[in-house]
Amino acid sequence: MTVSFYGSAVADPVFLPDEALNYIATHEFDRPTLVLSLDRVAQQYDALAGGLGRAAIHYAVKANPEPEVIRLLVERGCHFDAASRAEIELCLQQGAHAEDISFGNTVKRGSDIAFARSVGVVLFAADAEEELEKIAVHAPGAQVYLRVIVENSSADWPLSRKFGCAPSALPGLLDRAVALGLRPVGLSFHVGSQTRKAAMWGPVLDQVAILWNNAKAAGHDLDLLNIGGGFPAFYDAPVEAPRGYAAAVMEQVHARFGDVPRIMAEPGRGMVAEAGHIVAEVLLVSRKQESDLHRWVYLDIGKFSGLAETMDEAIRYKFLTTRDGGETGPCVLAGPSCDSADILYEKRPVNLPADLKAGDRIVIRNCGAYTTTYASVGFNGFPPLDVVVL
Ligand SMILES: *Cc1c(COP(=O)(O)O)cnc(C)c1O
Repeated sequence: MTVSFYGSAVADPVFLPDEALNYIATHEFDRPTLVLSLDRVAQQYDALAGGLGRAAIHYAVKANPEPEVIRLLVERGCHFDAASRAEIELCLQQGAHAEDISFGNTVKRGSDIAFARSVGVVLFAADAEEELEKIAVHAPGAQVYLRVIVENSSADWPLSRKFGCAPSALPGLLDRAVALGLRPVGLSFHVGSQTRKAAMWGPVLDQVAILWNNAKAAGHDLDLLNIGGGFPAFYDAPVEAPRGYAAAVMEQVHARFGDVPRIMAEPGRGMVAEAGHIVAEVLLVSRKQESDLHRWVYLDIGKFSGLAETMDEAIRYKFLTTRDGGETGPCVLAGPSCDSADILYEKRPVNLPADLKAGDRIVIRNCGAYTTTYASVGFNGFPPLDVVVL
């Protein structure tokens, strides 16, 4: 089916209309709305699972915690990476087994650890001594994996500084875990979100392999390697298809780690981003002065109402409008709120149709990840992002 309404959808094969786009084209919306296709999530899960082979997929719930998404993934045999008590409860409510949920946040509330243990969660992440102590108090004897900092990330959205211990701290933390009566079973890392090419994993895996081998040489019987997330989505630059990408990552893992008994992967973005699009509206098109070459385009959605990942212009969404196909010009794109930081793209302006006007519909492609819950509650009175699940 072609939707002539969207000029570029027809012109560009990567923008072939899909279920969510077709729904958008045939419905009215009174506020910014994410339209999400469950079939598309299922397709993506199957592709990633196919490529990841024997690795257990723990979906990073935060990427999109819609209950229907969790239920669909439970039905397909997916496991879950939860960051809080509420995410654990969500997974359990949708039918997940507690032993298939890992508590992967390295910054946990003690009472949340106790809750997790009480419902049967057995696997916890840590990257600091104090966190190990909390786990030992609230979930004595639990399995823990230690998250390490990796450098050389080539990701569009690197995560390196905030989480993980320095390589030099790892031996001490492993010993401390043992001393506290915990079972340090493995290591985890995150290559950085939106790592566009599988080959970019190589240098990161090299670093982790050194730490892994050193830990084993020191007598720690590690059997779990958690390779984290980082599986990319298509935004404005081409990415490798999920099955081949995941298979290429696993090949590199096997080459360095051999037959690790348990491998976990935690895709978030790669699972859901391409399954949804946001339909929004242009509120104002203006020039600050007549001689300006670029226009300012203000949307009814911004950095604080779902598009937080435009921070530093790291994630470059693609846009469709009802006027695509004609002449375009550079635009600074901004959200509707009264916060002057609410600018989506300015350093690299976005080309939009020359005749774009207030009231026009604009579709933001592949927004299924890190949007619906990544929004303020009602800053300036703007409603949070609405969601339609197909
Ligand atoms: C957010 C997160 C993920 C998911 O990362 P993506 O890049 O979206 O795949 C995986 N693991 C952990 C620990 C995370 O915090």
